[in-house]
Amino acid sequence: MPELPEVETVRRGLAPAMEGARFVEVVANRRDLRWPLPKDFVERLKGKTVSGLGRRAKYLLADLSSGDVLVMHLGMSGSFRVERDSGTVSPGAYYHDRSKDLAHDHVVFRMSSGATIRFNDPRRFGSMKIVPRAKLDEEPLLRELGPEPLGNAFDAAMLAKACQGKNTSLKAALLDQKNVAGLGNIYVCEAFSRALISPKRKASTIADRRGAPNERAVKLVDAIKAVLNDAIEAGGSSLRDHRRTDGSLGDFQHNFRVYDREGKPCPTRGCKGIIKRIVQNGRSTFFCPVCQK
Ligand SMILES: [Zn+2]
Repeated sequence: MPELPEVETVRRGLAPAMEGARFVEVVANRRDLRWPLPKDFVERLKGKTVSGLGRRAKYLLADLSSGDVLVMHLGMSGSFRVERDSGTVSPGAYYHDRSKDLAHDHVVFRMSSGATIRFNDPRRFGSMKIVPRAKLDEEPLLRELGPEPLGNAFDAAMLAKACQGKNTSLKAALLDQKNVAGLGNIYVCEAFSRALISPKRKASTIADRRGAPNERAVKLVDAIKAVLNDAIEAGGSSLRDHRRTDGSLGDFQHNFRVYDREGKPCPTRGCKGIIKRIVQNGRSTFFCPVCQK
């Protein structure tokens, strides 16, 4: 499942092909995606210009000249491919990509920029939706989401307040999209490792009784922002079938400190710990039991 850095990487790959460009042709090959494409999907896009391509949590938001917003979600296995008319861009870049299977190209956009954008999703857990810009705040997919972790609204005070008195694990609190949006298993594990904080800790232990943040809250928030920024810089992480839009692989997985490193030595300087895997809320957690307190 792509997390925020992977979706942001996709956004940056799509932006040059979409921003300022008009939808010349829209093809919906298959409509029964995670949620069905709207009946008027083609009509509401065709001829409209994309004024900007943004992101909220793991959703891509294309602002249209009509006042609509095209909401796109990658789901588990969704990917975009950008092809230029010349047909000479990145030859061979997709040669082993299973998304090359045209049967899974559910949506195809031909843009006035000359690019063809294909949304490919073998498992169909991704989808698209069109929402009027004025109603975006009420959109069920978005309205419950907490602040963006890289935005100013997400800070130690905010996180401590959200965790105040909570008996759940700190990890569960960070994965709760109402507290902070777009974080998933990988970057949460990595943030705990950077902050030297145990993911098993109770959420309440980053706040005092009045909900004010302690030093742990500050360290955790700093670590979350740092790991996300580093991962975006590296083009995200490539796990299984996730690809950047130019078909190349993000390589942040080579920088993982703990994720998927069970039994390997802890990378913290001076620590002799071995990375351990436990299961929390049905998901694997990787951490060092020695230096993460
Ligand atoms: Zn350690």
